[in-house]
Amino acid sequence: MSEFTLELNDDQRQVRDWLHGFAADVIRPAAAEWDEREETPWPVIQEAAKIGIYSLDFYAQQFFDPTGLGIPMVMEELFWGDAGIALSIVGTGLAAVGVIANGTEEQIGTWIPQMYGDADDVKVAAFCSSEPDAGSDVASMRTRAVYDEAKDEWVLNGTKTWATNGGIANVHVVVAAVDPELGSKGHASFIVPPDTPGLTQGQKFKKHGIRASHTAEVVLEDVRVPGHCLLGGKEKLDERLARARDQARTDGERVKNAAMATFEASRPAVGAMAVGTARAAYEVALDYAKTRTQFGRPIIDNQGVAFQLADMRTRIDAARLLVWRASWMATAGKPFTAAEGSMSKLYASETAKKVTAQAIQILGGNGYTREYPVERMHRDAAIYTIFEGTSEIQRLVIARTLSGMPIR
Ligand SMILES: Cc1cc2nc3c(=O)[nH]c(=O)nc-3n(C[C@H](O)[C@H](O)[C@H](O)COP(=O)(O)OP(=O)(O)OC[C@H]3O[C@@H](n4cnc5c(N)ncnc54)[C@H](O)[C@@H]3O)c2cc1C
Repeated sequence: MSEFTLELNDDQRQVRDWLHGFAADVIRPAAAEWDEREETPWPVIQEAAKIGIYSLDFYAQQFFDPTGLGIPMVMEELFWGDAGIALSIVGTGLAAVGVIANGTEEQIGTWIPQMYGDADDVKVAAFCSSEPDAGSDVASMRTRAVYDEAKDEWVLNGTKTWATNGGIANVHVVVAAVDPELGSKGHASFIVPPDTPGLTQGQKFKKHGIRASHTAEVVLEDVRVPGHCLLGGKEKLDERLARARDQARTDGERVKNAAMATFEASRPAVGAMAVGTARAAYEVALDYAKTRTQFGRPIIDNQGVAFQLADMRTRIDAARLLVWRASWMATAGKPFTAAEGSMSKLYASETAKKVTAQAIQILGGNGYTREYPVERMHRDAAIYTIFEGTSEIQRLVIARTLSGMPIR
């Protein structure tokens, strides 16, 4: 008897249905309002916290699902509800993962609860890596962290940009260069605790889509944080820098590629978000095509419309399968020998853009208005090919992995 199955087990189905209920009853009805307001939907985050969807415990439980499908399932359902609101709910997770990946147990225990707050007083957190001159080219980061040994403090200076929850977060996780000569191997991550002097919000961006999610610059001017805010601690950093200096002397290119590989495991989660948005737009288009009549028959009676829907659904299912494969590989500890994580993000994000555009076309004039959700979904979908590595960067990673060549 084969053990292979693509069926969700009972527990997974239960969680999925519960999340779907929240997405359908709470997120979707609020989507248009928060998109127009372009503000963080605090009441929705609070609702999510009350029922246990906004907490580290919930995400940890899903992360440790042995099949690897927990996180993709959460992302698909929440983003099916609405991408902007869902990002406001899961954005804190990006900072939390930064602490879990690099921090000590004490740091995880101290800072993560402060990132989420509690149901009566919800908080958010921000992960600040991108800079005005360092987007895809993370290694060229200019924000500096200098150690003040006399005071056992780190001094951070620089400007971060595009930070989800930047400036409104209770806790900011900031990536800074400790040794700029080493590129991304010379970076370290720091906690900036609540109300630390010197950290201010720069401009808040007015965006094309995911407008309920707050995106802003974060300015760091002589921000002093205690030594214990260096994630992982000083001893580990010093060892890592020494190793990187040795390695850089012998093989500079490998240093760069190793840094890129660390994102491979987190990319399927973004792919799952894109699947959620694509599926939402496809469902609206399918319903519309069955009920809208022209020339005396439902528009879906025309192959030109029906075949589009067939293609849309086929692409969405293919995207989900790539996401599930990569998530399963990450959980099972399989090496990403063909950059399967990047493949899943590339295909799912391009699918979301394409499918949401097709949905607008199927809805005709209505699709182009804010009376129907597909124009918002199309605006939202554009983010997936940009953040967590653009589609071009995914192709670069895949091509380099497949060929073993330093393709530029
Ligand atoms: C809404 C939103 C939320 C975000 N949230 C966060 C966050 O929370 N934290 C954070 O740190 N960052 C965040 N980002 C930043 C995001 O990760 C970057 O925007 C992304 O990495 C691209 O960087 P860039 O915008 O500087 O584009 P650039 O790197 O300037 O790229 C511009 C264009 O050039 C292409 N390009 C660049 N290099 C190459 C190459 N070598 N080969 C081929 N093409 C190339 C790109 O693919 C792209 O099409 C967010 C961005 C947005 C828009």
